[in-house]
Amino acid sequence: MTEDGRVTGVHHRGGEVSASLVVDATGPRRVLTDPLGLFEERRADRVVGKEYVVEGDHEVDSMLFRLDHDDAPGGYAWTFPAGDGVYKAGVCWFGDAHERRAGDEDRTIDDYVRQWVEGDPRWESGPVRAVHAGDAVVNNSVNERATDGLVAVGDAVSSINPLLGEGIRPGMESAEMAADVAIEALDAGDTTRERLAASERRWNDRKGPYWKLHRAFAGLLYDFDADQQDRFVRRMGSLSPATAERFQRYDLTLRDVVGLYPFKPGDLRKVPAVVRHL
Ligand SMILES: Cc1cc2nc3c(=O)[nH]c(=O)nc-3n(C[C@H](O)[C@H](O)[C@H](O)COP(=O)(O)OP(=O)(O)OC[C@H]3O[C@@H](n4cnc5c(N)ncnc54)[C@H](O)[C@@H]3O)c2cc1C
Repeated sequence: MTEDGRVTGVHHRGGEVSASLVVDATGPRRVLTDPLGLFEERRADRVVGKEYVVEGDHEVDSMLFRLDHDDAPGGYAWTFPAGDGVYKAGVCWFGDAHERRAGDEDRTIDDYVRQWVEGDPRWESGPVRAVHAGDAVVNNSVNERATDGLVAVGDAVSSINPLLGEGIRPGMESAEMAADVAIEALDAGDTTRERLAASERRWNDRKGPYWKLHRAFAGLLYDFDADQQDRFVRRMGSLSPATAERFQRYDLTLRDVVGLYPFKPGDLRKVPAVVRHL
């Protein structure tokens, strides 16, 4: 619901609710940020993912990723133990890279998840207990996060990490930043964009530079050929524990990225697409 360009509440199936402040936390559906024009989808990429919760022994005691276009064209496959005799295994891919790397293959994402579950002797392919699926709309995350009467958090405004697709931790961080600002705005009786935009500035200052770099790198990583994937994984494997720990915190500098990058002369043609994200 809006009045003179200001968000004043929401309609729902049973009626409507008025509010001095509305929070859009509807994830990739972006139920409010999209019609309000806060999020520019034109420059974003769509990631789709599907994961099975499988019963069976699992030899690996950590999270394992596989970069291989045979298992996950234009993305990656993952698996990790999820309790006693249960594990999760899934596949995700980035729209643009998937189109280039899957070629004309007419296989569904389920075909790839099944192949991943059944194709490795380190885990047993038992009954599937549950299936999780979803999508994400990924850009460099430097988006408008507030307007008069509304703040947006999580994937409603693409807070997901654009390199690895981890979305829960950044979504909660974005919510924390927005909550601090929202509480002060409500106390002051002023929920205009001018006041609420502090949460947007906080996100853009703290996360923006990293997420921009990661978005640019993701465009390259998921389009690597098989030889580049191997070289990249070997370089990741030889990182010092301190750098690996920084990587886990997403504290990755341009220098780190250049050091990890398995360069090929043909990559020069990708420069304009990369620069677009910076
Ligand atoms: C298969 C898969 C595996 C993933 N694995 C991981 C992982 O291991 N770790 C990780 O960090 N991230 C993972 N992610 C990403 C992560 O799920 C998302 O980034 C994260 O859930 C985003 O949180 P959110 O609260 O912004 O949105 P969501 O979790 O999408 O929540 C949005 C909520 O809004 C509700 N909603 C939508 N429309 C409306 C409406 N019109 N009215 C009312 N409610 C509505 C939805 O039902 C939903 O409950 C995975 C994603 C997928 C698809």
